[in-house]
Amino acid sequence: MHWADNFAKQVIERGSKEEYIVESGITPSGVVHIGNAREIMTQYFVYQSILKLGKKAKFLYIWDDFDRFRKVPKGVPEEFEKYLGMPLSAVPDPWGCHNSYAEHFESMIIHEMKQLSIEPVYLRAAELYQKGTFAENIKIALEKTEKIKEILNKFRKEPLAEDWLPIGAYCESCGKDFTKIKYLGGYKISYKCSCGNENEIDFREVTNVVNIKWRVDWPARWAYYGVDFESSGKDHKSQGGSWDTAVLISKEIFDYNPPVGPMYEFIHLKGQKEKMSSSKGNIATVSQLLEIYESEVVRFIYAQRLNKTIFVPFDMDVYNIYNEFDKCERIYFGLEETDDDLKRKYELVKIKDYKICPKRVSFSELVLLVQVVPPTELKNYISKMMKERGIEMDETDLELAIERSKKAECWVEKYAPENVKIQLADNKVEIIEDQREGLKEIAELLKKECSTDELQQRIFGIVKPKGKEFFQIIYQVLIGRKQGPRIAMLIDAIGREKVIERFERL
Ligand SMILES: [Zn+2]
Ligand SMILES: [Zn+2]
Repeated sequence: MHWADNFAKQVIERGSKEEYIVESGITPSGVVHIGNAREIMTQYFVYQSILKLGKKAKFLYIWDDFDRFRKVPKGVPEEFEKYLGMPLSAVPDPWGCHNSYAEHFESMIIHEMKQLSIEPVYLRAAELYQKGTFAENIKIALEKTEKIKEILNKFRKEPLAEDWLPIGAYCESCGKDFTKIKYLGGYKISYKCSCGNENEIDFREVTNVVNIKWRVDWPARWAYYGVDFESSGKDHKSQGGSWDTAVLISKEIFDYNPPVGPMYEFIHLKGQKEKMSSSKGNIATVSQLLEIYESEVVRFIYAQRLNKTIFVPFDMDVYNIYNEFDKCERIYFGLEETDDDLKRKYELVKIKDYKICPKRVSFSELVLLVQVVPPTELKNYISKMMKERGIEMDETDLELAIERSKKAECWVEKYAPENVKIQLADNKVEIIEDQREGLKEIAELLKKECSTDELQQRIFGIVKPKGKEFFQIIYQVLIGRKQGPRIAMLIDAIGREKVIERFERL
């Protein structure tokens, strides 16, 4: 059983409901990278699985943009220090293209998720607070401050301060949260800001001041929305971490049965041991993944086991990921020995519904082709090449191949190791006299003026009587492997001069 189905089952076993709620969220304090995206993806798959069981479900994604601006990250002008302590929704966009700092980073991942056909219901915490949405929860948290402190202190070395409260307050004058707060009972608090401003407010009426602190806000939200599923990363799942305390606070303060909430492992860039982090600069975005992976393949990467660290490759292992995806697709369409788990995995990651299995051109082959076939000829070339193999490509197949070729092109340009780039091979090839003569004959031919097409035909004339093996020899001499793109095209990509030299030297 796929893990997503397993969790969907657990969600439904919580009890009968009109609509099940899957929730996720993040503080938009910087670039949302591929590690952060694992949460969205995990939630999405479980959401899909709940729907598959014939139940109604909603996938909420909440931007924690009412959180404070804590730190100026790399890439943001230093002068933004002056906004520290303000809610992220009130900090301006450093690049001036969005309404706020928060919105800038939100819009990136919203756009990326859209490309993966993932569109949760997005909510903004700042707007929700502004509407007074959480006023009751604020009151409950304040009234039960002592109980909350008791729960949190169980896991702390240093107990929380005497005057600790489960809320923060943004000053109405300077907008920052350097405030001392007093709870006055009911819906009232007073605060005193370091800027000198002080006020007494009813937080049902003045809604841009009070926010609930993270460890309390999380369970408060579960209770408010009736959340049934929310996975979270390893960083929240340590002993006494925010998950542990959220579970207790959910039960004991908000009287809510906490959601099914598995842990997922981190995502690393292959070859890196350290966790991705914006401050270290070793992050990759979903957009970067989408440059070299098709949308469905990106989804495929995230559908892996939750308890396994995903190493996202940008190196030669890209081939393996594509091959695994293609195999999974063939299994789904019954073209390979069936495997229920893989079949289900494909069902979860597919975006389009194909009637029959698309005829795929492998990524590795496209890596070669994009280096030798001009883009305008690629479609025809692939069609012919596949026909020669007895495979008739229809328009959809060809479009898929062209889409994949664009990923291959980008990969060659940005990530491919040198040995993948088309270049003369250094290896020694054992050849017999007859083959040596054949190569010399081709070299002579290359000295004459002729088009690539003509060249192809005439080389074919030389090769045919010598047998298929000779063809392989030519490829081996040129690029160190037994096959490759059309020979004349390959020769022109390498350069005729270089090929002549190579053939005559043997
Ligand atoms: Zn912007
Ligand atoms: Zn102030």
